[in-house]
Amino acid sequence: MPYPTALVTGGSRGIGRAIVKQLFEQGYHVAINYFHSEDQAVALAQELNQNTAGNRAIAVCADVSEALQIERMFTYTKKNLGRVSVLVNNTGIAQQKLFTDISEQEWDAMFAVNVKSIFLCCQQALPDMIHYKQGKIINISSMWGQIGASCEVHYSASKAAVIGLTKALAKEVGPSQIQVNCIAPGVIHTDMNSHLDLSILHQLEEETPLGTIGSVQDIAHMVGFLASEHAKFITGQVFGVNGGMVM
Ligand code: NAP
Repeated sequence: MPYPTALVTGGSRGIGRAIVKQLFEQGYHVAINYFHSEDQAVALAQELNQNTAGNRAIAVCADVSEALQIERMFTYTKKNLGRVSVLVNNTGIAQQKLFTDISEQEWDAMFAVNVKSIFLCCQQALPDMIHYKQGKIINISSMWGQIGASCEVHYSASKAAVIGLTKALAKEVGPSQIQVNCIAPGVIHTDMNSHLDLSILHQLEEETPLGTIGSVQDIAHMVGFLASEHAKFITGQVFGVNGGMVM
């Protein structure tokens, strides 16, 4: 197959959707993972396939906290688009709660979706990447994983774990010419922040040196760069795309 294949977890909405579009534009076949938003993922694949230079997009359902579903997603992707050479671990859930109110189930769910999913997806992608001595893994963390957010301890801890995973795995698979990098977005306009009222968003803008919150394209462009040949000497790094909120 002439086109390399990228798989984007949580590609149905928000940042993941923009990443899918970016990688498709860069000539990748793209597997769009979704869990609940089937209509949006299927519509996105159809939209991309209508204006293609030859590469293809497919929608693939999987709850990325479930090992068996991830295994099936990779098998389906390989059969339809070829082996995955770029894996974007974008899926994430967030929750605002006082630390003392977080239940054990909520803690476990946060780590299953935000961290275990990356462990499982990387385990599926790596055998082919190691065999062909080529592959790029891009993990989406958060600035809160760098500096911590009040009332989001489980979210912050899970995103800090993504940073640790990125660095350790980059060291381990670097000799196989596999790059593992991480993006730590600042506040980005998506459904994840739809609960914030306008005054809080305005306050966040004022706290940001560049005076604005980010767009999904701001993150997608960084993913596009890391997936490109221009980034071939970069691994184990954490890129803050945050308008200067964290330096
Ligand atoms: P979003 O708009 O809430 O979208 C979340 C995506 O994750 C959806 O595509 C959703 O798919 C998918 N998802 C959730 N649970 C899943 C599961 N169990 N299995 C498979 N897919 C699942 O979030 P976003 O703002 O685009 O965030 C994307 C990433 O950026 C996350 O890792 C987030 O933590 C990180 N981030 C976001 C911000 C921000 O300000 N928005 C800031 C820093 C970091 P379905 O709808 O199909 O279930």
